[in-house]
Amino acid sequence: MNPIERLTEAFEKFPGIGPRQARRFVQFLLHQNSSYRNTLAEDIKKLGLNTFQCKACFRWSVKEHEKNGLCNICSATSREKGIIFVVEKDADIENVERSGFKGLYFVLGGAVPLAAEEPEKYIKARELLVRIQADGAENVIKEIILGLSATTEGDHTRLILQEKLIPISETLKFKLTSLGRGLSTGSELEYADPDTIASALSSRQ
Ligand SMILES: [Zn+2]
Repeated sequence: MNPIERLTEAFEKFPGIGPRQARRFVQFLLHQNSSYRNTLAEDIKKLGLNTFQCKACFRWSVKEHEKNGLCNICSATSREKGIIFVVEKDADIENVERSGFKGLYFVLGGAVPLAAEEPEKYIKARELLVRIQADGAENVIKEIILGLSATTEGDHTRLILQEKLIPISETLKFKLTSLGRGLSTGSELEYADPDTIASALSSRQ
């Protein structure tokens, strides 16, 4: 296989990218100058070296922001530690941050497809329970917000999590809420504008 074919195949594996788009990416790269391509290649190499996954929220972040295994959001003293906003992916956090949310996060790593037999393969449900039990034991948790996308998979994921979390919320005495109306049906949190997220947050129940 030559580099054009190899790269096309690599891009096809990206989420939401088909063969046609993959070929367009390669064409785009062919038309850039070599310093653009070199910087891109270097950045890809550094991704593995200069990044880490936060041990509390599982968000990927650059190493210079690391403090005892925590990202800059989890280690910041200014954040409201009692509220955890549960999202599907890292990109959702950037958007929620722009809405002015000041609590903490937990990244599930995805959503559960309807037909999935083993939900644990798609989301970090077990890790979320461990985090809640640990924080809950110290009486830190006041509220868990399920901030899932308004998609079929997002709804399904929310039901799975509610089933697991409702009994724990009663024992540890925290509120379990979901984003309210405002996110239109079919929309992913990643693409919702900050105002929409802010209004969905204020109408959470
Ligand atoms: Zn974190």
